[in-house]
Formats: sequence, C-alpha cells, structure tokens
Amino acid sequence: MDPTVDPSVKSFIAVTADSHFPLQNLPYGMFSPTPHDEPRAATRIGDFVLDLAVIQNAGLLDAAGLPEGVFSHYVLNPFMELPTAQRRAVRVLLHGLLRADEPTLRDNEVLRGRALLPADSVTMQFPVGIGDYTDFYASREHATNVGTMFRGKDNALMPNWLHLPVGYHGRASSIILSGQDVVRPSGQTIPPDQETPVFGPCRLMDFELEMGFFIGTRNRQGEPVLVDNADENIFGLVLVNDWSARDIQKWEYQPLGPFTAKNFATSISPWIVTLEALAPFRCPSPAQEPAPLPYLQENNRGTFDINLEVHIQAEDDSEGLRVTESNFKYLYWTMAQQLAHHTVTGCNLNAGDLLASGTISGPDKNSYGSMLEISWRGT
Ligand code: MN
Repeated sequence: MDPTVDPSVKSFIAVTADSHFPLQNLPYGMFSPTPHDEPRAATRIGDFVLDLAVIQNAGLLDAAGLPEGVFSHYVLNPFMELPTAQRRAVRVLLHGLLRADEPTLRDNEVLRGRALLPADSVTMQFPVGIGDYTDFYASREHATNVGTMFRGKDNALMPNWLHLPVGYHGRASSIILSGQDVVRPSGQTIPPDQETPVFGPCRLMDFELEMGFFIGTRNRQGEPVLVDNADENIFGLVLVNDWSARDIQKWEYQPLGPFTAKNFATSISPWIVTLEALAPFRCPSPAQEPAPLPYLQENNRGTFDINLEVHIQAEDDSEGLRVTESNFKYLYWTMAQQLAHHTVTGCNLNAGDLLASGTISGPDKNSYGSMLEISWRGT
C-alpha cells in the first residue's frame, strides 16, 4: 500500500473521525490569510490549512527539487504542470511532515504558527487558471432520464451514446468558487403552445451534480493520451455544480448543443483531491456492452467510490433539505475514457484544463443529479 494512504498513520494535528481532511487526503487549494493578502498554495489537515509557500521557503520540500516560488503564484498551475513523479514526491514529503511521530514541524512553534492557520480564519481563493473547460454527459442514468423525457423511452439514448463519451466544449471564464453568488440569467424562452420566443429572467434554474478533473501534465498537439496512461495526466478532482437555465436551454440547444443556458456560471469546490488520495476508493466501473472500440478499452483500472449529496437551502431555512444521494461510481464512462476520447484526434490539453463528468445520476429516484430529473420535467 502507498504509505500516504495508510489509515493507521495519524497526524500531530487532531482530526475528527468525520473530517474530510485526514492525513490521507492532503488536497491542494489557494488561500489568502486575510482577504487583502496575495493568494498562495495550501494543503489542508483537519481544521487547518498548511501554507505551502512557507513550508517551501523553510527548505522542507527541497528533496522534491521544486522550482523556486512554485506555490507563490496566483494559481496552482505552475505546480500542476510539474512531472507526476515530482508532484507525488511533494505529497510524500507533506505526509511525512505532518505525521505524529515527526518532530520537524510539530516541535517548531514559530514555524507552526506561520505555516498552520485555522481554516475558518482564511479566505479560500479560486485555485486554478482554467484555460479550457469541457463538460461530458457520462452518466447513463442521466442521459436515459433526459432522453426519455424529451424523446420517449424507446429512443432515450442516442445511437452514439454507448460507443463514445459525449461532451461539449464549455465556457471557462464563468467558472466560480463554491459559495460565490450566481446572478439569475435572462434570455429567450418559448412559452408553452407558442411559436415565437419571449425575453425575461430564467424561471427554471437548475443544478447539475457533477465532479470534474483537472489536467496536470499536458499532452502535445497530435499526440493522443492513451486510455491506460490517462492517470499520468490527471492532477485531481473537484466537485462541480453546472448551473443550468432549463427554459433557455430548451429553446436554444438545437442543433449545436447548450450555449447561453450554461455559460453564465459553473461552481467548483476550493480543494482539489489527488488521484493518490483517492486510490483506496478505487472500485469497478459499470460493465460496458457493447464493448467500446479498442482506443477506449481500459485495462481494469475501474473508477472511484465517492458519495455525493445535494442539499437545497432556502434563505429562511437554516437546515436545508437533502434532495439527492448519488455516487461517482455510477458514471458509465470513466475519466480515463473521457481523456482518451477527448485527445484521440490529437487535441492538446494543458495544465489547468477542467473536464467535468456531466450530471451524475444513480439508478433510483433518490439519486438523480438534477432538478430536471427529480421533478421529472416539472410534472
Ligand atoms: Mn453539465
């Protein structure tokens, strides 16, 4: 087992059993100690962020041979694009530094005070300079539900769907950090039983429960990523909410797909979880029938078991309501297959590009990943 995911190893920082940030996670993000400070890179342990610029300047990451100041940029990209082996070396060093039996940071009160800051005292910042954003449609259950609503049960899946991961090129400029306000979009909609559109604010705002992965190592133009090597190009995963204006989408989407209905805001989580941290949660991916073409055939790499929930909270309701319990493992097309298909033409992906999964719906009503499906088109 990779020692960085060994559950028996504890940190000198106390971490509660239900924390998303045990020593085995060590995600990456950007933060500012106060809203006025320049952003710098961090990892997270329990209720603390660890300032990676401070740790690097103290010489504690020298063994990884990092470029000077790699954690002091406005985004994580300069770190993300380093060779995979170098990024993994940083993870091993951070894990070693935070172990309960390692005194270097634990017993250095001055350094600890500068490097470890209470998470609730800092401001999380947008983590990545995203050059390009692609959104897939990789959940069979979601595609079947939407197809059934709009084309009937017999034609639910389009003829291509079981042969390739369908996707579209999305809008990178409007991707925002979770928690940031979204302005309700206006646009053209077509009222029931009318032939000409009206203009006004969207009345069918929807969420889409998704996850996305960031590219780390880039591939050169003309050189596809092979499905069995895809992990080498993946930096890590975030939660994604692909805000969708359903009424605008319905009128505008044919024949070229979503446009303004999906270009106004997409939210991502502030912490990026690496594939190394997710390794213990690998599980089989759904059986694929018919077998995909050889360039999409994976050598049993599988997918990840990640529980996902959606809660809706009204302004006057402190509790909120859980409306969905889904799981990343339901996705029919894996990240490796999405990456192999995206680049099969020779399309080059750069460090910081975001590839999102599409709505992740499970097999039953309680696991649908959008309000479109939960409300069954408002019926
Ligand atoms: Mn989407």
